[in-house]
Amino acid sequence: MNKRTHLIKPLLGMDYGVISHGKGIYLYDEEGNSFLDGCSGAVTANIGHGVSEITEAMVNQANQVSFVYRSQFTSSSAEELAERLAQSAPGDLDWVFFVNSGSEAMETALKIAIQYWQELGRPTKNKVISRWMSYHGITMGALSMSGHVIRRSRFTAMLEQYPTLSPPYCYRCTFKDHCPNCSKQYALEFEREVQRLGADTIAAFVCEPIVGAAGGAVVPPETYFKEMKAVCNRYDILFIADEVMTGIGRTGKMYAMEHWGVVPDILALGKGMSAGYTPMAATLVSDRIIQTIERGSKIVLSGHTFSANPLSASICLAVFNYIKKHNVVENAEKSGAILLRGLENLKSIYPIIGDVRGRGLLTAIEFVQDPLTKEPFPLQNEVTNRFIRKCYEEGLLVYTAAGGLNGVAGDAVIVAPPLIIQEHEVQILLDKLNKGLTELVSELA
Ligand code: PLP
Repeated sequence: MNKRTHLIKPLLGMDYGVISHGKGIYLYDEEGNSFLDGCSGAVTANIGHGVSEITEAMVNQANQVSFVYRSQFTSSSAEELAERLAQSAPGDLDWVFFVNSGSEAMETALKIAIQYWQELGRPTKNKVISRWMSYHGITMGALSMSGHVIRRSRFTAMLEQYPTLSPPYCYRCTFKDHCPNCSKQYALEFEREVQRLGADTIAAFVCEPIVGAAGGAVVPPETYFKEMKAVCNRYDILFIADEVMTGIGRTGKMYAMEHWGVVPDILALGKGMSAGYTPMAATLVSDRIIQTIERGSKIVLSGHTFSANPLSASICLAVFNYIKKHNVVENAEKSGAILLRGLENLKSIYPIIGDVRGRGLLTAIEFVQDPLTKEPFPLQNEVTNRFIRKCYEEGLLVYTAAGGLNGVAGDAVIVAPPLIIQEHEVQILLDKLNKGLTELVSELA
């Protein structure tokens, strides 16, 4: 544990050691320990580990061709994957640009939004409005859009100040006097911000349908997205949905925005699209935007050496087929409901659980010192990390979220197992969480 090796460990890793293999919802380390993957890594391993259909597809494609350069050739796997994604996506999100990570998918979304307005002769529309308590990626453009205080902190001088809006965070609602009709207030705040900055400077509004790493499965009030989209329509502002974490079934629908019937103009995918079997992500773009570019410069000025890589595309295609064949999205909805009920039950036992929330298999627990005042624990108590460690000792992996209050205080963990998890396995997961909670509470006492 914590051995000094030559590999730079990114962000705030727990440095658990070396995994030798994985199967289904379990990972096994070199020392023979097994872990129930209660967070799918970083909410990524959506179909579980060691799925033979995927490894067979890998081998087949590698035997054909692994790499073609996207400015010279396309490949049947990339073409077919784009077609399947376009068919599955809501509305006229008919066009797909492949990249290698969620951050790049969001960079591409930002660039295409800015380009769209340039093509229409409105180049001053080049800013974005986003929300606090959000995470859109680690690269500079994506970080500019992210309202994640800790991850922004070192680079603030280089970042745009795009996050200005309140997150729709029901547990600590900014407009609590208006709940449950607070959606109108969030939309009003958005509209005021557009008017302050000038609609002729705003290219897009950016949001995660359900806030992931920056808050922990924060689900907005029911009419929130309809209200926000109405403001976008009124002021000619594109709507970018960051579905890097929520997309491809995680929340019990193929795309989380389907829960609210709102169709974005641009939608970013990552994580679950490859289920972790290869680094691959995508930006889905509406036909209206692509038609505008086709009538104008005809070139999308973005891309990477590995964009639309045939090997990665074939892997994602196999993941897509697996999800359809095994009704994985339906299972996410069913198992998610069981998991959320189990979390509610734990909340009734442990007063340090202030809130449990989520949709499908994207759920979270928020810890508080006092459930009545909702006062968070001081940051130096490191409650999140201590709980994650307790779960690890029980053979369960859960994921850190920055928690409430803009990512500078508050404790929350994400519970998001692979979407293939079965009812009896959800019970095992809940039992391990229960043990972790008992340990944490006795340590805090
Ligand atoms: N957007 C969201 C909503 C995410 O959760 C993440 C990663 O956690 C990203 C973007 C960035 O994706 P990646 O880490 O693949 O660059």
